Amino acid sequence: MNELRPAVFLDRDGTLNVERDLVRAPADLELISTAGSALRQLARAGFLLIVVTNQSARARGILSASELEDVHERLKELLEAEGVELTDILHCPHHPTEGEPPLRVECECRKPAPGMLLHAAAAHQVDLSRSWIIGDAARDIEAGQRAGVRTVLVLTGKGESEQERCSPDLISADIAAAAHELLACS
Ligand SMILES: [Mg+2]
Ligand SMILES: [Zn+2]
Repeated sequence: MNELRPAVFLDRDGTLNVERDLVRAPADLELISTAGSALRQLARAGFLLIVVTNQSARARGILSASELEDVHERLKELLEAEGVELTDILHCPHHPTEGEPPLRVECECRKPAPGMLLHAAAAHQVDLSRSWIIGDAARDIEAGQRAGVRTVLVLTGKGESEQERCSPDLISADIAAAAHELLACS
């Protein structure tokens, strides 16, 4: 029962859902149209699906804990409607310089730090050596590299402009292409 499983760590904004300045209410969360089928495919291949998202809007005082919880309930609902079950959603509520303590803190979970990936790996018996991260930002790629997983930059969200700031294993047009391409080399 303690066998390690591979996971795909998933950035949220710009990767699973359409990038907005602030996703504050459930209605602000719009799934990228191919996200459901992409995640279904990854789950079918045996990957745990774990969302890892920086939410410094919490530290900056413009997003409450309950608003964030409601948004994540909505994310789970939308994906469940597509037959996808997430293993976990981890978020970093911190910012190193903005807002007030305790959320204003130099933490180990804000990507590009690998804390969320390492924490989830321990909690869910993840084999990092067979795992991946998919994200639209250089800090997603760096967090993955620091955790020892393979990395895919998607060109949705901020991806186009982040390309030159990182060296991912794969660059894919969107989450659907990322799923397809990482499965081909797993
Ligand atoms: Mg993002
Ligand atoms: Zn943090």
